[in-house]
Amino acid sequence: MPPAGASSRAEQRAALAAIVHERATNPYFGDLIARCEEDSTLSGDAGSAEAANIREFRREYDKRTKLPGDLVKALARTGSESQQAWKGAREASDFAMFAPWLEKMVDLARRKAECLGAPEGGELYDALLDIYEPRATAKEVEAIFTPLRDRLSGLVADLLDKGRAPARDPIDITVGTAQQHELGQFVLKSLGFDMNAGRLDVTTHPFCSGMAPGDTRLTTRYREHAFTDALYGTMHEGGHGLYEQGLPKLGVNGMSRFGQPLGDSISLGIHESQSRLWENLVGRSHAFVEWLLPHARRFFSAGGASPLDSVGVDDLYGAVNQVERSYIRVESDEVTYNLHVMLRFEIERSIISGDLSVRDVPGAWNETFERLLGVPVPDDRRGCLQDVHWSFGLMGYFPTYCLGNLYAAQLWESVKREISDLDDQIRRGEFLPLLEWMRKNVHQHGKRYSAGELCERVTGAPLSADPLLRHLEGKFRPLYGV
Ligand code: ZN
Repeated sequence: MPPAGASSRAEQRAALAAIVHERATNPYFGDLIARCEEDSTLSGDAGSAEAANIREFRREYDKRTKLPGDLVKALARTGSESQQAWKGAREASDFAMFAPWLEKMVDLARRKAECLGAPEGGELYDALLDIYEPRATAKEVEAIFTPLRDRLSGLVADLLDKGRAPARDPIDITVGTAQQHELGQFVLKSLGFDMNAGRLDVTTHPFCSGMAPGDTRLTTRYREHAFTDALYGTMHEGGHGLYEQGLPKLGVNGMSRFGQPLGDSISLGIHESQSRLWENLVGRSHAFVEWLLPHARRFFSAGGASPLDSVGVDDLYGAVNQVERSYIRVESDEVTYNLHVMLRFEIERSIISGDLSVRDVPGAWNETFERLLGVPVPDDRRGCLQDVHWSFGLMGYFPTYCLGNLYAAQLWESVKREISDLDDQIRRGEFLPLLEWMRKNVHQHGKRYSAGELCERVTGAPLSADPLLRHLEGKFRPLYGV
């Protein structure tokens, strides 16, 4: 879409949102759900597909009808103005410019949480978290994050203060964007992404969109001097895409679940577990790098020599597993990423509870950042102004990024128990048994279970920080020699 089309697109989106909201909150729809609930042939067996659908339709209907139309509109309108103000403030690296807007958005987010209502014994923040991670609470998340935060903070200090970082230069090479695009498509197809039911294109901000059954769109961005950024970005979005393609939308035995909760993803945390699994646990493993290297050489050699000819498997493996004390979340690595997320969770939770006022955000941010990562924040642009989320009222969203890493690591331990030669399969480029496992254990269920229930069913245990810690410690300590 050309830039000049943006405002008419915004009008169209607002109109569609209003129509959808009106239909989804129509009392007739509520009556239909109530009739299904009363019909024991539909809802009698709590474990059935129908009962799960009815339960989730009810949940969604109740949520939507609790939000007054004027609040929905205010969030949309003030949110887009606030996002503009955030852009300017970030460029100027001046939090004071953004503070009045953030105050407005926090008020609106709090009003939204009050309308939705906190669960019994819970806090206001839970109502927001529940939108993105149904049935999770701040207290449960905190109980998992706290041990993770403390051990990771120590791991980062050990790796960077006592360890020896692997060399970065093997990936500091120049690769044309057309060659990068060919490699990205080849990798996606190898992982099992169905190009007949999806595409890969280029945008400024990479995303995955499950537009409709049979139409999953992925995007990436290329820079000639950083081919691994695009490669791992593509694998990340590809992981989201494999989940979308595995949801029972197209219909099995003539039964399409499109438009039903059973055809939809469980939560943002589970969605992110799928992207992180393919990006990090597969993509940044030694076995994967061993498979990848000869293919990358082939795609990058324009009929002659390839810039990767002199690079060995161990060199490439080390280069794609750098740990750094970066300020920016989206540029951070497998280890520090979680610390960046936990910082945001702590701050937004105290904003919503009222313990932290908006004007004290930069101070709290900088102090927590230094405590967790060991370096001071140089300015607001690289501090509390870096993310767009809060500017349009997205609070309760950040923890799902870290939950994704936790779920991925826990699922990964189960996969490894069940597919004993997984590493060898990956080394040979055989990714389908792993994909089949995800299809069977995660994708095909849609929203039948909550994230916590699915985790217990599949891995035999509730979500814990241990699998992720075992993975990160087991991988990075030997790599850094500490
Ligand atoms: Zn993602």
